[in-house]
Amino acid sequence: MVDFIGIRRVQELVADLGPAAFLAGLAREIEADYRRWSEFEKSPRHATHSPVGVIELMPTSDGRQYAFKYVNGHPKNTAKGLLTVMAFGVLADVETGYPLLLSEMTLTTALRTAATSAVAARWMARRDGRAMALIGNGSQAEFQVIAFHHLQGIREVRLYDVDPDATDKLEDNLARLRLEGLKVVRCRSSAETVRGADIVTTVTADKRNATILTPEMIEPGMHLNAVGGDCPGKTELHADILRRTDARVVVEFEPQSRIEGEIQQLPADFPVTELTEVVNGRKPGRVNDAEVTIFDSVGFALQDFSALRYLHRLHQQRRGTRATIDLIPDLDDPKDLFSVLAMPLDERKRPAPATERLSA
Ligand code: NAD
Repeated sequence: MVDFIGIRRVQELVADLGPAAFLAGLAREIEADYRRWSEFEKSPRHATHSPVGVIELMPTSDGRQYAFKYVNGHPKNTAKGLLTVMAFGVLADVETGYPLLLSEMTLTTALRTAATSAVAARWMARRDGRAMALIGNGSQAEFQVIAFHHLQGIREVRLYDVDPDATDKLEDNLARLRLEGLKVVRCRSSAETVRGADIVTTVTADKRNATILTPEMIEPGMHLNAVGGDCPGKTELHADILRRTDARVVVEFEPQSRIEGEIQQLPADFPVTELTEVVNGRKPGRVNDAEVTIFDSVGFALQDFSALRYLHRLHQQRRGTRATIDLIPDLDDPKDLFSVLAMPLDERKRPAPATERLSA
């Protein structure tokens, strides 16, 4: 039997720890995996594009476990009542090739993206930064706010979205969350949102080269957490922001970011730093308080690997319903696969119960 984590189980696991502690644990896992970067087999994700979106496969392995994620990006989906980004994934044992876990990854992607943003900000943002601008108030937004509030000490969040309903939704959700000491300010434009902010998170969805941030908006010392541009032809920053002589650009995995990140707008030899170099102390995330730091995030398979392993451990250890599914045949004779079909249904080995209650 293969462990199964659906939406309800993620709700249960996040509620059990609390969103802040869940994100803190996930951020630790992601940073620890970025520290042992050389152990991972890495490749840019496999992207299948259509005029309206993209479907991507994201594999990686550390030689002991293997993970992949199926994820889409369809910015027009919300007009049809569908998510822009949804995902599921598998964690498998390299020794046997057997899957260990099949999991939802729509919520998990939002959680791991926010946790990764917080890891990067910990190394790159000014330590005294307390105000964050958040442009793009859709599905990923709350996760970013919780992560930055809890892990980076943000005390003011300034919101803007071209869709006022998205900002209404975000304000309502943040009011319900009652994040201690967090002031929420609603703004009328990107420029107003960014003014005076220490951290600027862009997490918009548009299948074109949008220009959410222009050079005159950027102030000395800002940390830009550019999350929304993650596909060829889909960017958020004006290229001159990246070209600033006082700007430091950090990416997750350079070969993939050259294709999908903000840096796709620049020549292939434009110098960038990989996040692993920063968390391993080989290159600085920031050298002074005036530097502009840019985390050009597109999302990399390692973050999903870390998230699946973290979820799997919680699934096995924490209380609640531990579901499994009969994804792989369980055979007495591994050469007799046909027996599974040949035997009348009622004579077949009854599969183990689909769920099992774990005690607290
Ligand atoms: P979403 O559709 O739920 O929300 C996007 C929001 O951006 C919408 O509310 C939309 O109105 C707003 N928007 C679009 N253009 C804008 C503009 N010019 N100014 C202000 N707001 C604007 O999508 P989501 O799930 O929140 O994802 C947002 C983006 O983040 C997507 O492009 C997605 O591909 C990307 N993403 C990146 C990562 C990563 O690891 N880097 C992970 C997940 C999602």
